[in-house]
Amino acid sequence: MRIDVLTLFPEMFAGPINSSIISRASRKGLVEIRLHNFRAFAKDRHHTVDDTPYGGGAGMVLKPEPIFAAVQYLREKNGPFPLIYLSPKGKVLDQRMVERWSKLDSFALLCGRYEGVDQRVVDSLADEEVSLGDFVLSGGEPAALAVIDAVVRLIPGALGDEESALDESFTGNLLEYPHYTKPRSFMGREVPEVLLSGNHGEIKKWREKSSIEITMKNRKDLLDKKEM
Ligand code: SAH
Repeated sequence: MRIDVLTLFPEMFAGPINSSIISRASRKGLVEIRLHNFRAFAKDRHHTVDDTPYGGGAGMVLKPEPIFAAVQYLREKNGPFPLIYLSPKGKVLDQRMVERWSKLDSFALLCGRYEGVDQRVVDSLADEEVSLGDFVLSGGEPAALAVIDAVVRLIPGALGDEESALDESFTGNLLEYPHYTKPRSFMGREVPEVLLSGNHGEIKKWREKSSIEITMKNRKDLLDKKEM
């Protein structure tokens, strides 16, 4: 899989993509993450990427030309790919989207800055507009990293045997049950007796009940969602 990232701050990606699962998946040849600073596609002497908004108001808007030029360059070089614009106005990211993208050969992520991009970028260039959640970031980079992390771990072979992408939160419409490891007693808190029983039927029942409880407590909205 190839993931192209369009960003004004490529250096923000170095730590996360060179660590742990993403870095191992890259070394195994499962994913190639390419960072492109679209400032390089601005044609004027100062490589201007932003300008003041029509209609007035505070802040700056990312100009359409450098972004169009960067995407056009990549599509001419690599063929078609979907472009995802990270934006607080987008549909909220969920595991279903991540699963869909994990099956693609390639896609691109566009990170906004300032007040965001000129609307014509959204209307004629972006295939999807996706939000990390109901809050405002100063740039799309942390959201792009979240997408990359969530997608890469679903590529077959990206997780080791000791890690598993099956049976996790959001694989159904429930959150995952709680986990415990050694020691059996820690600061006066005991591991639930049933997990020590070796009775797999009872353990399964306890886990199902706990999943429902935590979902009811923290994320009632998931129970109304269609089964994933
Ligand atoms: N003026 C915009 C916010 C711009 S924030 C508004 O009020 O809707 C600047 C950039 O940060 C955006 O272009 C987007 O790429 C990114 N960003 C901010 N919040 C985000 C979120 N919740 N999810 C994904 N990207 C976000």
